[in-house]
Amino acid sequence: MLKILLFLLLFIPPLSISADDAEDDPLGDLIEDIIRKEKSEKEAEAAVKAQPPKPETKTVQKKEVQPKSAKKSNKIIVIDPGHGGKDPGTVKGKVYEKDIVLKLAKKIRDVSKKYKGIEVRLTRDRDIFLELAERAKIANRLDGDLFISLHVNSFKDQTTGGMELYHLDNTRNEYSGKLASVENRISGDVSTLDMILIDMDLSYYIDDSLNYASTIAKNINKGLSGYKIKLRDYRKGALFYVLVGARMPSLLFEVGYITNPTDRALLQNDKFLEALARTLLDSIIETKLK
Ligand SMILES: [Zn+2]
Repeated sequence: MLKILLFLLLFIPPLSISADDAEDDPLGDLIEDIIRKEKSEKEAEAAVKAQPPKPETKTVQKKEVQPKSAKKSNKIIVIDPGHGGKDPGTVKGKVYEKDIVLKLAKKIRDVSKKYKGIEVRLTRDRDIFLELAERAKIANRLDGDLFISLHVNSFKDQTTGGMELYHLDNTRNEYSGKLASVENRISGDVSTLDMILIDMDLSYYIDDSLNYASTIAKNINKGLSGYKIKLRDYRKGALFYVLVGARMPSLLFEVGYITNPTDRALLQNDKFLEALARTLLDSIIETKLK
């Protein structure tokens, strides 16, 4: 569901938002989320400070950080099934977004075993809740070459259906404008997102994010030609919160609308999920990088 998705993401579509979408307030949700998070972090910090220091009993052996290998033999694709645990994502009857995306993620991992030079890892492989920042952290720890966050859309009009693919992009003016307004509304503190942006040069990942998105877009309607679903749009750049934290090319894939009967049936169809997984993996292999 868009509202739930937007709770998780900073979503800044380049296209004008239609009147139907006007009730959604992605920035507001994100800001509330960040403020809430910062507040709870401060409270936790205060609680730690209030406690008397513990006497040191033993030295803890520090784990060696594995050096980043200069040449990896396999390309590591990190698949992030959105939501999970207490957060079901969008729901229609007994169909939950968190279950659909987990099933698809596992399907991608299974199918990938037939591919050479590619290794699929998941941010979660069971029904658990993961903080947004944790998802990006996992991807970075895995030293991923591509990060794909999987989601399912929803809309009040059930005739609306199809897939939407977003890629990491902060190069358009309206993004920085919106971002600035986010920062300004969080008075005093530097927002988490702001810190991430200062910390990294996103441009390095932006070109390849678009390269991956373009190849997937080129292949998807062909790869899924036997099914009644189309890719609605892929030229959507976005500064998704979940994407910004991952230091690698990143995509966010809305694989269909739970509110659309055709999409909903497909998303529960094993053969369809397999065809989608194959198309994604073929496209990843085929993508020419910068
Ligand atoms: Zn979602």
